[in-house]
Amino acid sequence: MLKIVPFTRDLVLVGGGHAHALVLKAWGMNPLPGARLTVINPGPTAPYTGMLPGYVAGHYASSDLEIDLVRLCRHAGARLILDKVVNINQLQNKVMLAERNPVAYDIASFDIGITAKIDLPGFDEYGVGAKPLGLYARQWNDFFENVKQGKLSPNVAVIGGGVAGCELAMAMAYALHAVGVTPKVTVIEVGMQISGVGGKVRKKMLMAMNALGVVVKTDTRVLKVCIDKVILDGQDPIAASFCVGAGGGKAHKWISQTNLPQKNGFIKINADLGVVGDSALFAVGDCAIMENAVRPKAGVFAVRAAPILHQNIRAALNGGIRKKWRPQKNFLKLISLGGQSAVAEKFGVTLTGPFMWRWKTHIDRKFMNRLVDLPKMLSPKISGETAIGVAEMLQANPLCGGCGSKVGRGILSGALKNVKKPSNNVVMGIGDDAAVLRHSGGEFQVISTDHLRSLIHDPGLMTRIAVVHSLGDVWAMGAQPQVGLASIIVPQMSEKLQARTLLEITQVATEVLNASGAQLVGGHTTMGAELTIGFTVTGTKKSTPLTVAGAKDGDLLILTRPIGSGVILAADMLGQAKGCDVAVALEIMGQIQNREAVILTKKAHAMTDVTGFGLAGHVQEICNASGLDAELWKDSIPIFNGARALSDAGVSSTLMPANRADSPVEGIDDALLYDPQTAGGLLAAVPESQSESIIKALAEKGCSGHIIGKLKRGAGLIRLS
Ligand SMILES: Cc1cc2nc3c(=O)[nH]c(=O)nc-3n(C[C@H](O)[C@H](O)[C@H](O)COP(=O)(O)OP(=O)(O)OC[C@H]3O[C@@H](n4cnc5c(N)ncnc54)[C@H](O)[C@@H]3O)c2cc1C
Repeated sequence: MLKIVPFTRDLVLVGGGHAHALVLKAWGMNPLPGARLTVINPGPTAPYTGMLPGYVAGHYASSDLEIDLVRLCRHAGARLILDKVVNINQLQNKVMLAERNPVAYDIASFDIGITAKIDLPGFDEYGVGAKPLGLYARQWNDFFENVKQGKLSPNVAVIGGGVAGCELAMAMAYALHAVGVTPKVTVIEVGMQISGVGGKVRKKMLMAMNALGVVVKTDTRVLKVCIDKVILDGQDPIAASFCVGAGGGKAHKWISQTNLPQKNGFIKINADLGVVGDSALFAVGDCAIMENAVRPKAGVFAVRAAPILHQNIRAALNGGIRKKWRPQKNFLKLISLGGQSAVAEKFGVTLTGPFMWRWKTHIDRKFMNRLVDLPKMLSPKISGETAIGVAEMLQANPLCGGCGSKVGRGILSGALKNVKKPSNNVVMGIGDDAAVLRHSGGEFQVISTDHLRSLIHDPGLMTRIAVVHSLGDVWAMGAQPQVGLASIIVPQMSEKLQARTLLEITQVATEVLNASGAQLVGGHTTMGAELTIGFTVTGTKKSTPLTVAGAKDGDLLILTRPIGSGVILAADMLGQAKGCDVAVALEIMGQIQNREAVILTKKAHAMTDVTGFGLAGHVQEICNASGLDAELWKDSIPIFNGARALSDAGVSSTLMPANRADSPVEGIDDALLYDPQTAGGLLAAVPESQSESIIKALAEKGCSGHIIGKLKRGAGLIRLS
């Protein structure tokens, strides 16, 4: 019998820096049974900054240097929370987040790097730090495009003449030269010379900068950053339409407001990487300082510390023995010089040229490949005898998260066909989105229930999506959400972890239901094999609720959300989806649809929400119930980023073939039409004359709406053109 190991300890990794990325890889290969892993990072990817200058110079694509934390977390069985830690309560073992509720830990580790933001007047408005990569890359690309189109002058100021600042200055100058622009790039350094390197390397770097026309101003202090210049202390201003901060490693400000032991904002650690005076905490990489072995802020140390961190985190969780880390004194510096050339330095020996660039690229790509090459998720193997059909079922894809592991429509309708028609005050029973009761006062009450098997390891986000998914039926009927009752299965875990998990679920459920105008009024919880969260929800409506029937010949179909979430989640489970696509899809799935529902309800003849049967299946329901045909317009149907490529590559959710068989569409063959959705968009049939004003009204409220097709007289045929 399969034994399920209960969770007893929470491990929280704060920041997706280099060391944590490597710990995630190692953890996935050999997870510690009983430890529940959470990672908190502001974005779905973390940059490998060593390749940043090469990206800016145009030698790499942005995806080459993005560490995909979503994939790594899937591999490690970890939940990823996209947020920032802003404080820590060491007495209560909790980290505080900017946007979400606090997260409790038994063991936590910090690998949050440093900030490249500079404390100067005007920097926040007109400057950008070399980190975080996303922001810097966006602003650099905007500037680059504007310069190419002659809209901005190619003047760049880099504040900070360390290795990073000089590398970036050369990379930007190289990129601008490459498009035929003669740039004016200035590196401004407060010290007497560019820092972080020995004399020979400095000379090579200055020669390379000179060749690219990069000016280096040493012994110079910046006072202020303006829209088109930087103001210097006692010198003429420097023209700058783009100003980058690379001013040496500054610790994140929030650390100084905590009780963590620190020096200049860097967290003090012992030789075992444990935070001084707190056996539950670790810190590593740029954010940490080991006072008896202070080293420069370089990624190489975060990388080298990773195996020791992994070992010591496990020791802290299982009562084992911690190892000591002895950081090397000398390390290989490979500095890119703008073009495909680099200078290398170790033990005072210096080498320069294209070969050094190839060597650097080889090392950088090798590092990234370690984090990209993750083993494939294998179906469970069962040895010995099995009943007929077991092997075939296990050989298929693992139980898919794309459709929330729903059962196909054909199977369901077969099971329900003998259920008696409801009577008395039940206006609507099986067949539409929800049951509808009519109360004695004439008001209607909509009742629906839905639950989701864990698509992701995050109970908070799962709860958000499950509430939205359940409320979809209430919104689709034009009712006002009223109450919700939770139905929760949590995996087996210690009482302490149960309390943490249920607190998180109820907090999120309350928040989302309240934001929708409803209340959480109860529920039921059990322990089981895996996290499953569901809600029974009710809504009220004074007039007859909208149904799938009632659409008219000539109505246009409006859809409020992209399709393709099933493909993305199925690919995510297989480790094939891009983390940023998964993150965007999950974020949209977790958004409530109150405003959309109110706007559509006023004008719609029929409405439903797109869920398990896929877009085609739900259009089919409207067509069947309203006696119409539908024509869908392929280019007008919104699709989640990444879903098209995955679908074309043959990825699909387990339920897709059953959906296709139930609601085949004529014309163009597109598997995405049958892709089951979780917390999908509202689909409304509206009079053509009203359609544009509805789209405008949705846009005014910050909601999206897409006219995706037309209904006409017929007998339930759907065609994609
Ligand atoms: C242009 C440039 C080039 C460089 N080139 C090299 C090089 O060639 N070789 C080298 O060794 N070093 C290089 N460095 C230095 C190197 O980038 C850093 O030393 C290295 O990234 C540090 O790694 P880390 O793991 O400490 O943190 P990081 O890689 O900085 O990762 C920190 C992560 O934590 C996240 N985070 C931040 N705050 C929070 C928070 N409050 N809550 C949750 N998450 C948070 C961040 O978003 C990020 O994902 C370069 C730096 C720059 C700027």
